[in-house]
Amino acid sequence: MDDHRDDKYEETELEKKEAGTEEKKGDDSGSDYEDVCFICRRPESKAGKMFKLPNNICVCDDCMHKTMDTVSQFDYQGLLNNPDMGEWNVKGFPNISFVNLADLKGDGGIPNKQKPKKKKKASAEIDIRDIMPPHKIKQKLDEYVVGQEHAKKVMSVAVYNHYKRVATGTMDEIEIEKSNMLMIGPTGCGKTYLVKTLAKLLDVPLAIADATSLTEAGYIGDDIESVVSKLLAAADNDVERAERGIIFIDEIDKIAKKKNTNARDVSGESVQQGMLKLLEGAEVEVPVGANSKNAMVPLATVNTRNILFICGGAFPDLDEIIKQRLNKKTSIGYSAELKDKYDKEKNILSRVTVEDIRKFGMIPEFIGRLPVIFTLEGLSRDMMVQILKEPRNAILKQYQKLLELDEVELLFNEGALEAIADKAMEKETGARALRAIIEEFMLDIMYEVPKDDNIGRVTITREYIEGNGGPVIDIRSRSAEHPDRLNVIPQPADGS
Ligand code: ADP
Repeated sequence: MDDHRDDKYEETELEKKEAGTEEKKGDDSGSDYEDVCFICRRPESKAGKMFKLPNNICVCDDCMHKTMDTVSQFDYQGLLNNPDMGEWNVKGFPNISFVNLADLKGDGGIPNKQKPKKKKKASAEIDIRDIMPPHKIKQKLDEYVVGQEHAKKVMSVAVYNHYKRVATGTMDEIEIEKSNMLMIGPTGCGKTYLVKTLAKLLDVPLAIADATSLTEAGYIGDDIESVVSKLLAAADNDVERAERGIIFIDEIDKIAKKKNTNARDVSGESVQQGMLKLLEGAEVEVPVGANSKNAMVPLATVNTRNILFICGGAFPDLDEIIKQRLNKKTSIGYSAELKDKYDKEKNILSRVTVEDIRKFGMIPEFIGRLPVIFTLEGLSRDMMVQILKEPRNAILKQYQKLLELDEVELLFNEGALEAIADKAMEKETGARALRAIIEEFMLDIMYEVPKDDNIGRVTITREYIEGNGGPVIDIRSRSAEHPDRLNVIPQPADGS
């Protein structure tokens, strides 16, 4: 992620440089971005060679000709050089003003963020040997994501297959199917986090969209193709990079078919219908540097054939549908007396089938385009404790790092971690609650510690989290033999 941010930073620097130097050079042949016609907004790849005018303004051949024709028509009608026009002839046409391009201050051209990037010839292919094998992908995911072993394994294999498919193309007789995924799991169990981590370690652009905001084209809301536009923005307008990216659509269960409705279902079934083509692979024209199409925004064509779509959702009540199905099976069979056998089963979601999802309200064509279906488990208290301390960028490590800069050691004892996990479990928003809880407790500490240089160590205890006591503060002192070295002297817990 950090690398990515650096790229962006460099880009803005680059933009600035370009704007400065181009005025002198008068052309931008060295730029990474395509020229875009100032009048029709088509990029160079569509409109052909551009006429370059001062102030970075480019006009395509078509528009230049149309303009010339229009101007010459005026002349033909005798409006120019007409002695009868008297003073008009000197001042120009009434109600028509001509823009003097030289008057436009600075960079009058279209900004780079609205221009598609030029196609690079060499970098397009992926070498099959460069693709990370599944066990390596899983290993990397393990560093960040706690638990969810099954999900990590399925994803690693699916992603590996996906990029193999991208690398080989579809020239062979056997076409490898797209590995779009559907992940089902309660809120806050790490669905978005898994996808974000995956995109980061594969170094591909990622767009995250929320299915609830999508509507059928023409209705209020984002139309479906806007997700591709987001991906293009995440890829810095580089169409080729975007075409290998990942689109994560969250809350996909919210576009289930609405039951018992006679009105047109513009945000449910129609959105599913609208997504079919994208999921499979289609050429879409998307606006560059904006999220809606209009006459002033340049368009780029993106092919979604190699874009990996991952859909995620909590699918509430899906467990009921699964239980119903399983119970029906047993009641027909010989063990009818075990009717409530599945009621207590903990991980019932993992028994999901395509049929259950269809019953939930997803249309068969839609499910058919998401061949990799898997579930994530709800987080247990132990997993919460692990999430607090184990991942590479665990919340505790982040706070420890912050205090380390003040040369203060921060410790959490096991009891404190369990108490935090318990509080988070009560909120039922998964691991998302952890950060909020810790922030609340750490506020006082982060405020008080920098006040006193003598504080050498702070230990957070269960009592502090439960509101029955304070953290243990240890004061440092200089030892007699090594006056340059600081020692920590334990102090009894007090309420401060
Ligand atoms: P959702 O499943 O609703 O998409 P998120 O992936 O957004 O949930 O999880 C919220 C936050 O909780 C993440 O940013 C991450 O820090 C943390 N988190 C959730 N699950 C895990 C996990 N299994 N391992 C590590 N961190 C997790």
